[in-house]
Amino acid sequence: RHLIEQSDPEIWAAIQAEHARQEQHIELIASENYASPAVLAAQGTQLTNKYAEGYPGKRYYGGCEHVDVAEQLAIDRVKQLFGADAANVQPHCGASANEAVFLAFLKPGDTILGMSLAEGGHLTHGMALNMSGKWFNAISYGLNADEAIDYEAMEAKARAHRPKLIIAGASAYSLRIDFERFARIAKEVGAIFMVDMAHYAGLIAAGVYPNPVPYADVVTSTTHKSLRGPRGGIILMKAEFEKAINSAIFPGLQGGPLMHVIAAKAVAFKEALQPEFKLYQQQVLRNAQIMAQTLTERGLRIVSGRTESHVMLVDLRAKGITGKEAEAVLGRAHMTINKNAIPNDPEKPMVTSGVRIGTPALTTRGFKDEEARLTANLVADVLDHPRDEARLEAVRAQVHALTTRFPVYG
Ligand code: PLP
Repeated sequence: RHLIEQSDPEIWAAIQAEHARQEQHIELIASENYASPAVLAAQGTQLTNKYAEGYPGKRYYGGCEHVDVAEQLAIDRVKQLFGADAANVQPHCGASANEAVFLAFLKPGDTILGMSLAEGGHLTHGMALNMSGKWFNAISYGLNADEAIDYEAMEAKARAHRPKLIIAGASAYSLRIDFERFARIAKEVGAIFMVDMAHYAGLIAAGVYPNPVPYADVVTSTTHKSLRGPRGGIILMKAEFEKAINSAIFPGLQGGPLMHVIAAKAVAFKEALQPEFKLYQQQVLRNAQIMAQTLTERGLRIVSGRTESHVMLVDLRAKGITGKEAEAVLGRAHMTINKNAIPNDPEKPMVTSGVRIGTPALTTRGFKDEEARLTANLVADVLDHPRDEARLEAVRAQVHALTTRFPVYG
């Protein structure tokens, strides 16, 4: 019997049930992935016991010589992975990485310019209920009539409002982002240029999506999405901003770093530096393109017309089903997705007219072209007949056959 089972059967039962769900369901949530067994294992080590406020070689606690090695490896590897001058691997998550950038460069009341949540941005980029929207004067840009980022409107707003900080990056935007263009306008108006690459980080590490590092003053990310590491955050920056960012994380925002998670980040960065990771990300992109094309052939509309990344938004209106209903019925067919507002969505945020689909997780478990096409067809089958119980059962059986053939952890 597993140690956890012996000491805490209730928690063990929840963990086992979640493990079974991850094995048996097709994961289509664009922000999720399956970390490797080595990444999982690193998080369950004695490093969780260690306090290490400060940075390698400059700590406020004794006994840090070994965790220093782990953190320095994480820093060196992530700098190499993205070609960055400097890196901070301590943010507990993507949101705290972004907050640290705000703390480093802004004062309450300052103006920031980010992508609107309703059109694909993240809530930490200025949404009204988030700290970024409450403490700062948040202006937003969005999409043009072709559902691409409206760069002209973004530039006009930057000139009109002179923000202290401009943010590029998104949670639900399928196209490539022109980071160079953002950098030019940031320079013109004297703004700090921050990119939040959380969604695209794995693709960027593998060179299949544009790298913002040469253009941005600071780049934030999560480590658990397409990058396939442990749940956490990072900040990459130009050397001149290293001190300001490091002080913003500690002592500005956080206390002791999570050394077991930092060790797991180091393990994940090493994995991402291997040639196989590039092949993996190429397949992530290919699987997304195959799914977008198949869903289009089945009568669904892909927002922005296509995907150039791991993610797509699907407009469900042609099928007469809401995002909320689609999420529920696909869940019953053992395919996990999230409802997502589409541009100019007529439905409320808790209902929506769209779903977001991503391919990082299914690609990790080994799905290639044929399985990606089949998965898209199964999604379309469910959306075509959401109330047909026999058909749902048939789809669930096909999902089960697929997930059995492609175990995640075995
Ligand atoms: N930034 C972007 C673009 C995201 O999509 C997310 C995750 O949803 C975050 C930041 C926040 O990351 P976390 O959930 O780790 O705080």
